[in-house]
Amino acid sequence: MQQEVKTLESRRKQQEEESLGVMTQIETVEAEESGQTIGLKNLESEWRKEHAALIEEAQRLKALITELKGKRETVVAQIDSQMLDYYNQLKAKKGTAVAKIEQGMCCGCRISLSTAELQRVRMGKIVECSSCHRVLYLD
Ligand SMILES: [Zn+2]
Repeated sequence: MQQEVKTLESRRKQQEEESLGVMTQIETVEAEESGQTIGLKNLESEWRKEHAALIEEAQRLKALITELKGKRETVVAQIDSQMLDYYNQLKAKKGTAVAKIEQGMCCGCRISLSTAELQRVRMGKIVECSSCHRVLYLD
């Protein structure tokens, strides 16, 4: 009888310890879940902010495109039609009809330009690159 009571007592203790272990595991998982929920909320909040900023940027760029299209129309109306045809042909063939000059080089094809070419561009003449035939300009 006494032995049986001891055995039952020891089994009860063992079950209590197991229950404590399971409760501790549950608490750990709950804490992790809570941490992940906070992380998710932070990510969602960041995403919303970025999304709003991107929509704003897209609207700004759309307005800029409209403005630049208007400017382009004004400029195109002032350009000699032969020159405009030449520009359009170059653009169709090369993707970009004009090339900036940087450090004496054509940015369209990376060839070094001659002093004479640079001089003519500086004088405001229309000069095409001897290699890629884009119209050169200085900033
Ligand atoms: Zn070039």
